[in-house]
Amino acid sequence: MAEQLTLTPVIPIPAHLVGQVQAKLAYVDEAIASASIAADGSRIDLQLRAAAPADLEAKVQSVVQDMASGASKPKVEVLEDHLQRGVPYAADPMPELEQRGEVHQETNGVYSFGPLLANLIGVFEDYFLELAAEFGAKPQRFPTLISAEMLGRVNYFRAFPHSLTFATHLREDLHIISDFAENTVYEPAGLSASLESFSKIQALLSPAVCYHLYFGLADKPLPGGQLAATAVGHCFRYESSNLNSLERLWDFTMREVIFVGSREYVLDNREAARQKVTPWLQELGLAYMVESANDPFFVGEFRKQAAFQNAFQLKYEIRARLPFKDSTLAVGSYNYHQDFFGRHLNITLPDGKPAHTGCVAFGLERMAYAFLAQYSLDPAQWPAIVREARAWA
Ligand code: 5GP
Ligand code: ZN
Repeated sequence: MAEQLTLTPVIPIPAHLVGQVQAKLAYVDEAIASASIAADGSRIDLQLRAAAPADLEAKVQSVVQDMASGASKPKVEVLEDHLQRGVPYAADPMPELEQRGEVHQETNGVYSFGPLLANLIGVFEDYFLELAAEFGAKPQRFPTLISAEMLGRVNYFRAFPHSLTFATHLREDLHIISDFAENTVYEPAGLSASLESFSKIQALLSPAVCYHLYFGLADKPLPGGQLAATAVGHCFRYESSNLNSLERLWDFTMREVIFVGSREYVLDNREAARQKVTPWLQELGLAYMVESANDPFFVGEFRKQAAFQNAFQLKYEIRARLPFKDSTLAVGSYNYHQDFFGRHLNITLPDGKPAHTGCVAFGLERMAYAFLAQYSLDPAQWPAIVREARAWA
């Protein structure tokens, strides 16, 4: 039977961490259907699917403790602020998208898109390809699956275990495969087959695009000492009950422009890319800001890693306004990884030192969703660069 549970955090949750702690509560126990934390961090409300397990409160409090104790408020650096740019629309585009058959939810967090969204993303993609070309970034195509061995080498399992999506297959065994073929049915909780039928994990569904480039450069000198590349790909991040319309998908697509080389090469290009994207966002009429951010590290790694990213200005997000809910959504990011991938993957520069890496990443579904949330589904309302880029009728 569904119930509600209200808890007082063991230590107050600072307001700047409320969203990030709340997102982690989805992963604490299968009994939690949804979690919300009061904006001032003083109360946690849990909606439960079943009676609360005995250790539930202890698990929730340990997340609060690990993420919030000793956390200092990060210095938020705002590089661009156009949040108040006037936009003509203030409703949620989702009901109309669904009603027109423009989005079809296949399963939780997994959507198909119709022609309006496909064309809109096409317009953004045309621009991203131009941007990439200005940096001489060569196109690449990467697989949807990603090597478990290589993800292990870059500590991905330690940093983001909660959002991993695994690829498996039936074990090579006649009895197992025949039994699966004859007896497996879909039940509401998932396929009926037993876990013993499945192989150990060699591959996962890829959580990011640029990793594939770094994996391909591993264990050798970087040809020419620097390179720029671009690719688009499906990315998978399991978000549990945080999956929420087009704002958060399990399966989404990302376009990246990627830089590998010296520290200066990567930082200069990350900044040059931002300077080129700014006037485009203005032509697009997007209400947005660019501010410092951190990646959603899991509980044990969160405090240290988030503080590190903040201290070294490693991540900035483009956050678009969603007028209908008076919030913002990250539609892209400017990232610098220092020599993290160079060291872990043994990618060397001509001076023998590890290469530095960085990327500019755009979430294509989120770009489209934020644009429609500000400009409606009516092309007549759209800024000229989008309206005139396709025949929309
Ligand atoms: P990052 O590598 O900065 O986490 O992700 C780059 C971009 O991918 C984000 O700015 C965002 O636009 C998009 N993205 C990240 N996670 C999700 C997600 O769960 N759903 C969707 N739709 N886009 C995401
Ligand atoms: Zn990247």
